[in-house]
This record gives sequence, C-alpha cells and structure tokens, in this order.
Amino acid sequence: MAAEAEKSKDPSVFALSRSSRCFGCDKKLAVNDLVQLEPKDDDNEVYCLTCAKLDHLQVLRSGNAKITRLAKKYSQTRFLIMKWSDTWKCYERQGLLVEAAALERARKESV
Ligand SMILES: [Zn+2]
Repeated sequence: MAAEAEKSKDPSVFALSRSSRCFGCDKKLAVNDLVQLEPKDDDNEVYCLTCAKLDHLQVLRSGNAKITRLAKKYSQTRFLIMKWSDTWKCYERQGLLVEAAALERARKESV
C-alpha cells in the first residue's frame, strides 16, 4: 500500500479561464464552467459536462485532505479539475469531480 504510486493517472476536466461554447450542443459556457477537452488537430474541442456525460458527478473543491482521500477511495469514476493559471502559466488543480454517493459517504465518515 505504501508503495502506491503518488502520481495520479486520473483523467482531467477543466475549469474554463475564458468563456466558450460547447462543441456538442452549442451551449454558452462561462468562466469557471467545467468542460472536457478533446484534442483535435492543433486545438481542443470543448464539451460541457452534459455532452461529456459527466453531469451526474459532483464537484469536490480542494482543501479538505480527508474528504478528498475518502472520496477518491469510494468513487469509481473521478476526474481532476484543472484550471489554467495566467499568472503561473500552468494548470492548477482545483479539486475533483466524483460520484455523488462517494462524496456523501466521504463527508459522513470524516466528521
Ligand atoms: Zn454540450
């Protein structure tokens, strides 16, 4: 267990740093809306969580290490939420997208 790789291979979703439009349903997307990016040629296609079929998942903001650890343990499906920082010129981790039931269980067990 202790040897478990630290590097997470969880897939990512992205919080928009500028407004955009969903490539699938043409919905207007605001700053901080979560999207999935599909690499396409030199660019990325942007999909809202509904089109990405991830709208059943819940956002868990970074900050509570215990809830985060439990939610990761219980959620079969999870995505890292990343956001581009213009200040740092890199992606910053904002939190996790996890199953609602996993989040609820994690919250209950961490009190
Ligand atoms: Zn869409």
